[in-house]
Amino acid sequence: MNTYRIAVISGDGIGPEIVTQAWKVLEAAQKKFGFVLERTDVLLGGASIDAHGEPLTKEALETARSCDAVLMGSIGGDAATSPWYKLPAHLRPEAGLLAIRKGLGLFANLRPAWLYEELREACPLRGDIRCAGFDMLIMRELTGGLYFGERYTRIENGLRTAVDTLVYNENEIRRIAVKAFEVARKRRGEVVSVDKANVLDSSRLWRAVVEEVSADFPDIRLSHMLVDNCAMQLVRDPSRFDVILTENMFGDILSDEASMITGSIGMLPSASLNETRFGLYEPSHGSAPDIAGQDIANPLATILSAAMMLRYSLDQDKAAEAVEHAVRQVLRDGYRTEDIWSDGTEKVGTARMGDLVAERV
Ligand code: NAD
Repeated sequence: MNTYRIAVISGDGIGPEIVTQAWKVLEAAQKKFGFVLERTDVLLGGASIDAHGEPLTKEALETARSCDAVLMGSIGGDAATSPWYKLPAHLRPEAGLLAIRKGLGLFANLRPAWLYEELREACPLRGDIRCAGFDMLIMRELTGGLYFGERYTRIENGLRTAVDTLVYNENEIRRIAVKAFEVARKRRGEVVSVDKANVLDSSRLWRAVVEEVSADFPDIRLSHMLVDNCAMQLVRDPSRFDVILTENMFGDILSDEASMITGSIGMLPSASLNETRFGLYEPSHGSAPDIAGQDIANPLATILSAAMMLRYSLDQDKAAEAVEHAVRQVLRDGYRTEDIWSDGTEKVGTARMGDLVAERV
């Protein structure tokens, strides 16, 4: 029987509640499909600061690295009130997240955004736009660019001056482009590469390298789009996108926009992969400290992240499909958490939603 070691990061805020539900669903899946998941808990973010005084310890990183995949809730607190945000930047929760992504070599972030038939009303776009539906995947570069370049703040000519540096080399661009083309091959065969090549040198190199990679994928249609235009097209005609390939900061912003037009951020999973099968799987949303501990958080994004883990890291495609099908069935049966509730559907809490999905796997 296949046995997999899973590092589980419950995290902060609603993290522990939603991870509990995802694990419940994974237990149902392993029973049904005959594999074994061994769970190892790992601390990250605020929980690690409280226990060890830093957001990610070397030991935690090593433990995560030794596993087959990482399943995560989310980390961080309310920046206005949490003591974690009085610490220097490198000791705050988010520094742990950047460090684990870098430490595990997770350079490719996959964020699907699709419109469920049952949740169409939640989409904030005009009726004629949402009627066309959409099903896209944003492939965001995760370990380079502006968030990892040299930065400083100092006094220059008597003025406080801050500098951030946006750096990409061709290898960093090539490996994410290859992933995007490979993923497009399993989808509808289209890649839109998003950049700001009319202004930035890093974008001009991005565009050139993506063109080079596309020569090895003659079956995939490639086009380029400027990031400001892409931000517009996402709300004007989201149905035109299949795979959107973009750099770190553009991807950060565009993937949040894409998740908002689904109308249900609590529904969207994500995967971060390295060059092997290893990946870290987490919901697209944050730790929602405003609703933590109230049994009202939507656990479906985390459950769907667990499904992505079954597919991409564990090669358990049938189990992944069963989980995704179970989620769709729960929606069809009319159950909703508060964030996606509408008249005529039954409101359920976080734990009950986990039970309902697990029962249907
Ligand atoms: P957020 O996604 O946590 O919350 C935004 C809004 O969406 C809130 O009103 C929240 O209640 C709601 N929401 C989010 N997830 C939900 C769910 N599953 N069910 C129901 N409602 C949900 O974003 P934020 O408020 O900007 O950030 C809060 C904290 O999360 C911050 O510390 C931030 O740094 C952190 N964060 C962490 C990650 C991560 O762990 N990868 C990602 C984004 C933000």
